[in-house]
Amino acid sequence: MSTSSKKVAVVTGASSGIGAVYADRLAARGHDLILVARRAERLNALADRLSTAHGTQVQVLAADLGNAADLAKVEAVLASNERVQMLVNNAGLARLRPLAQSSADDSVSQIALNITALTRLTQAVLPGLRARNDGVIINVASVLAVHSLPISAVYSGTKAYVLAFSRGLQEELANTGVKVQIVLPASTATEIWSETVSGIPLAALDQASVMSAEDLVDAALAGLDMGEPVTWPSVGDAGLWSSFDAARSALFAATQTGTPAARYQRA
Ligand code: NAP
Repeated sequence: MSTSSKKVAVVTGASSGIGAVYADRLAARGHDLILVARRAERLNALADRLSTAHGTQVQVLAADLGNAADLAKVEAVLASNERVQMLVNNAGLARLRPLAQSSADDSVSQIALNITALTRLTQAVLPGLRARNDGVIINVASVLAVHSLPISAVYSGTKAYVLAFSRGLQEELANTGVKVQIVLPASTATEIWSETVSGIPLAALDQASVMSAEDLVDAALAGLDMGEPVTWPSVGDAGLWSSFDAARSALFAATQTGTPAARYQRA
């Protein structure tokens, strides 16, 4: 039995990069943690450090979220823990290469982790968060949610899903005590930038465009504290998102006509 009364934050992909920084910052903010990733030794080392530094109770779940049996085990743990108050859906995979040069597994593994696991873990915690009317879900998307490159058809597609899924959830949860924040990082200095993961080493990026994982998470948490539903950590002009979203909204409204547009009507 747990002796702690702290609220629990779940961080997926906590063994490196952005997720490891979320774990650190949320421990410092007074959460106990459930940390999920495949590399147990990394999670255990982080758990030891955070329990010493902050008195954090940490449960390590070594799981491959792309594997159905592992995912089901994580779902069961999250659904049954009444102290879970926050879920950071951060685990993600990028395989950046043209589709014609990608294996089917490259595509399926990105979809399984970035879409399926994120959706199912959200569904696992949602009934409890709704019942307690207290919760935060942070979904880590990417600026590639709104931009596609010749090497990012699947990755951009998965992150566009995260954006659309999360916006729907925000509508569903309006006027409840459960908040959903979407975080859209640009290039961030993590292990995703390697030959073995994305296929592109960090050194190949324009270094001026790369943010540290610490700055990224601190900015994202500042956005959370400000009550932002959608946070673009690297974008200086917040009005750009407002204009983009207003254009999206106007475009949707303009679809509700029931008639073909005049340019498609042959005389
Ligand atoms: P990272 O350092 O490679 O971290 C990815 C994390 O996901 C690791 O902890 C990894 O742990 C975990 N993970 C990968 N496959 C998994 C699986 N099958 N099951 C469970 N966990 C798995 O990359 P990152 O940049 O911090 O990525 C975090 C999030 O930020 C991702 O959603 C990514 O798409 C997004 N993002 C990153 C950037 C960027 O430039 N870095 C930009 C935009 C968005 P294990 O290997 O131990 O399983």
